[in-house]
Amino acid sequence: MKRVSLTPAVFHLPERVNQISETYGKQPIVPRGPALKPILDRLRKKVTEQLQVAETHEAVIFTSSGSGAIAAAVGSCIDDQGILVIANDVYGHRQADFCEQLGIRTIRYTLEPGTKPDIKTIEALLIKHQLGTIGMVHGCTSVCLLNPVREVGKLSRKLNCRLIVDAIASVFVEDIDVREWHIDCLICSTNKGLHSNPDLSFCVVEKSYLEEMAKHPGRIPYFDMGKTWMAQRTGGHPYTINIRALLEFEAALDDYIDRGSLSGRMRMYRDRLRILRNGYQKLGLKSFLKEGMEQQNIGTALFLPAGVDYESLAEDLAHWDNGDKECYEIYSAQGELSGVVFRIFNMGEYPLSTYERFILALESCLKKRRV
Ligand SMILES: *Cc1c(COP(=O)(O)O)cnc(C)c1O
Repeated sequence: MKRVSLTPAVFHLPERVNQISETYGKQPIVPRGPALKPILDRLRKKVTEQLQVAETHEAVIFTSSGSGAIAAAVGSCIDDQGILVIANDVYGHRQADFCEQLGIRTIRYTLEPGTKPDIKTIEALLIKHQLGTIGMVHGCTSVCLLNPVREVGKLSRKLNCRLIVDAIASVFVEDIDVREWHIDCLICSTNKGLHSNPDLSFCVVEKSYLEEMAKHPGRIPYFDMGKTWMAQRTGGHPYTINIRALLEFEAALDDYIDRGSLSGRMRMYRDRLRILRNGYQKLGLKSFLKEGMEQQNIGTALFLPAGVDYESLAEDLAHWDNGDKECYEIYSAQGELSGVVFRIFNMGEYPLSTYERFILALESCLKKRRV
């Protein structure tokens, strides 16, 4: 039985990525100068080229899941004036929580989950509290909606602020114009839209910002952006870095490039979404959506139909056995939306026929549960 992951956490990866661990196990590589430098150089260059910021930004790689890069960013990028964090989903709150735990002066602009932030309010808060940094999330995975980063970027430029964006769920899957949107630090990980394992994260950071950070120690020793950048620009890393994970990162990136880069990836996800969202509509399932917000390409948040309890539905799909050798893992909502919505993601390496079969399975499981 193949357990198809309809979650954004761990899912089937390209064969090219899986092959790395087989060959690497036969000859591991010591993470020092002559072996490490060319790999780091290639990766850091390819990442900024793919995001079309090779002239203005540099990539800094960390050993962690995505949240480590959030910690590195807030621990290193924020001056003593503090930060305004737009918190309209679980990850905006996580960013603000990290800041507060580090003792950073944090103004939290809290909204109902998925509600579009108001630009005038952001401007007023920045001026009132004299803040020079804005933090926000682009792809809000907890509600499957996209935040208006372009609009916030315009304001950020006008007020001469720095803009930090959690793009963990949107990089390599959504349109992001890092330069045009004035993003100073783009927080990314390797396991979501890139389809690699959750061992590495990275930030893509504006160069003069990195120069500033390199002058002072960051607030978290292990996740110090300036120090890590200084080491990586000369082909090193301050601590042990997992070369197998770096090679998987590169294999995933090469695979992404060979399959048409961003436009190829967006086409792949949109073909899946056409099947899935048409299916939801036919089944009478309503998408979670808020005025002025767009849906993410990686998945859909849906209202739980009356009488259906999430746990039972997830259980039925996880034990689905219809002779086609596939069962399905879906995702609950997070935080205050649990019990109200549930989420179905369309990430990873699965054929379109998997999503067609899933809709049939969902139909059958809902029929059984609906009263
Ligand atoms: C998944 C996710 C994270 C957290 O990443 P981890 O790999 O679980 O640490 C942060 N922000 C967003 C928007 C995400 O989707």
